[in-house]
Amino acid sequence: MNLSIGISLGYSRFLSQEKAKTKINQIEKAQLNSVEFGLLNCAIGKASFSGINPFPKENQTKSILKLFDKREYYFSVHAPYRISATTEEESKLKYSKSNLSATMKVTDWLNGRHVTFHAGSFKKKHNNKHVEKVLKSWEQWRQDKGYTAKLAPEVGGKYNSFADFFTLVDITGGIDNCLMTWDISHDFARGGKIIDEVGILNRLEKLDQAFNLSPSNRLPMHFSGMVVGKTGEKHHTLLGKGNGVPWELVLSVLKEQNFLSKVNLICESKVPKGEKMKGDAISDALKARRFLESDRIVKQYKGKPGNLDFYFT
Ligand SMILES: [Zn+2]
Repeated sequence: MNLSIGISLGYSRFLSQEKAKTKINQIEKAQLNSVEFGLLNCAIGKASFSGINPFPKENQTKSILKLFDKREYYFSVHAPYRISATTEEESKLKYSKSNLSATMKVTDWLNGRHVTFHAGSFKKKHNNKHVEKVLKSWEQWRQDKGYTAKLAPEVGGKYNSFADFFTLVDITGGIDNCLMTWDISHDFARGGKIIDEVGILNRLEKLDQAFNLSPSNRLPMHFSGMVVGKTGEKHHTLLGKGNGVPWELVLSVLKEQNFLSKVNLICESKVPKGEKMKGDAISDALKARRFLESDRIVKQYKGKPGNLDFYFT
């Protein structure tokens, strides 16, 4: 089994070498082979006000890479939340691109394969043509600049966020060299029909048509537990908690369809703030790996799909 599985690692200029070392030691002990560096709170410009961190510098990325042993890792980056491809305001698009530019630089220093980002905010109706135009221009710019990491906008977790699985696969699949990030807990939270085999098979078929997936060009996938409300995603939690993301069913179909060598699995599980639970992203990633390495195949979803009134395609 050609498995690429790991967790995300919060990263900014303020991450100390000691803290990084502790986390990386845990990753190595668990023998995970994929890491997504999370630049979620990074931003260009004035980094002095609270909550905003500067991007890591080139020499810092060199030092953090030295903390990993010689095993082959599949590295990637999650861009800051500040990037939006849905906005139609010139100044916001410009700001998004500046932050994307800083992210791409860091990603290339880290030898990251792709950049995952949330494409846009919550709005009743999105202008898909506009987003397509923006993503196309970013892809052209990426090539002109010679950045090697691929762009991979993510399936949003809120009902009104950009975008659902099929919209995203249609748009990004039409752009050469673009990828997308399939977060199954987001897909589930917004009413995506991944609670039966047919819905999952439809998605795999679409992915095969849209992208040239291989062990060196993997589709970024996120998984975790998820608490779902009326409008979709509320917050991430551990596997088996919250509203029962059908992770065993999805992994079973991936396995049966020989899809595991075409995806990069990142576990985004976490204990919600203020709650007491045993476990973390690493223990959930190991849970998923143990499941994949066992003979178990799950054919039916037995959980409760949350508070949404309906599930579509
Ligand atoms: Zn995600």
